[in-house]
Amino acid sequence: MEGELKQNMLEHRRWMIQETIRTPCNGCGHADFRQITEENGLPIVACRRCALVSVRPRPTEAELKRFYAQYLESGAEQLWRRATEAMLQRDARRLARCFPAAGELLDVGCGFGFFLELMRARGWRVNGCDASAAAVDHARNRLQPASVRLGAFHDLDWPPARFDLITFWYVLHHLADPRRALETAYAALRPGGLVAVRVPNLTLFQLLWLLKRFDSPPLRRLLEAIRKDTGSSNSPYNVLDPPVHLFGFTRTTLGHLLGSTGFQVTAVFNDGMVARGSWFNRLIDQSLTGLADLVLALTRSRLDLSICFSIYARKI
Ligand SMILES: [Zn+2]
Repeated sequence: MEGELKQNMLEHRRWMIQETIRTPCNGCGHADFRQITEENGLPIVACRRCALVSVRPRPTEAELKRFYAQYLESGAEQLWRRATEAMLQRDARRLARCFPAAGELLDVGCGFGFFLELMRARGWRVNGCDASAAAVDHARNRLQPASVRLGAFHDLDWPPARFDLITFWYVLHHLADPRRALETAYAALRPGGLVAVRVPNLTLFQLLWLLKRFDSPPLRRLLEAIRKDTGSSNSPYNVLDPPVHLFGFTRTTLGHLLGSTGFQVTAVFNDGMVARGSWFNRLIDQSLTGLADLVLALTRSRLDLSICFSIYARKI
């Protein structure tokens, strides 16, 4: 079943882009870039001013809407549930420590609504949005009378200063304009409300861009063996794998983006991998997560080797 999900993801990664745009840096607004590498025929650049890494040029909004309208298919619900449930349960437990009482949640890119289900069971009033019609249908059916809306987050009209918590689980790096998404979230949060964002950690995967310089058949075979489970499509050296991922964030660059949209970072978590599968897989996950925590402590937070991380930030 896991293999089926990966195959499904690989199919989607074969999406061919027809229209692209070049925009200034989403982090600082300047247009001063250096190219780092190229993946799947698309250049990946770093901003010389704020170090934010992005794909440039990247697909237009219209292209992204067409793609995300069909990225989740009816029938894949249980596969996705198994792939994400352990991590979402951990999120729900963590967030419970930040909120003495349940409030009102908006989950952006809610998919089939699994996180909404978990939070509703904890007493929260839940709302979600997703670009996939199949996912929104599923979530609406399971969560009535919760509000689950179809469309791009920034296109939908949200009541100002309404929500206590807005979550972006693995969403921000898929968007054409993460800054606009955070600005929309800021307006929709009540003062003191919390935004929670999880993204893959660029720092760890940048090692692959270094290794690419030493490309050789044995190294390639080794990396292919290690990365065969990640769903990476074309090259074992791929980090972002555009066009599905358009931005690469570190703790620093995501922290800057949140700060410059008015948020104050309150916590950062090393999220490790999704703990699932056999006891052996879970042991590997826990060991790698522990190792990343140790390196982080030893380097006083200067070197973060977590596979992905979450940042919580408050609207001030
Ligand atoms: Zn910049």
